[in-house]
Amino acid sequence: MANKIPVVEYSLCAACGVCVTACPFSCLELSKVGIDRYNKVYPVLASPGTCTGCGICAKACPVEVITMQVLAGVP
Ligand code: SF4
Ligand code: SF4
Repeated sequence: MANKIPVVEYSLCAACGVCVTACPFSCLELSKVGIDRYNKVYPVLASPGTCTGCGICAKACPVEVITMQVLAGVP
């Protein structure tokens, strides 16, 4: 597992899906996360074990709402 994972600020996310498409390892999926009344789908890290922590998704996000979070205890 990577020592960093992407964390999405859902309150600012446009639910555009660009990050999902950008991930070279298909780790992100659009899913209903129950955060808004419009029932949109937002990116979730569906395959954390496959994520390399490369940050490509964060760089691809047009509104810069993905933060790479360092995981404690992972070398
Ligand atoms: S950090 Fe890299 S591997 Fe992980 S979800 Fe983002 S693009 Fe995919
Ligand atoms: S690219 Fe950014 S705005 Fe678009 S779905 Fe991903 S996190 Fe949300």
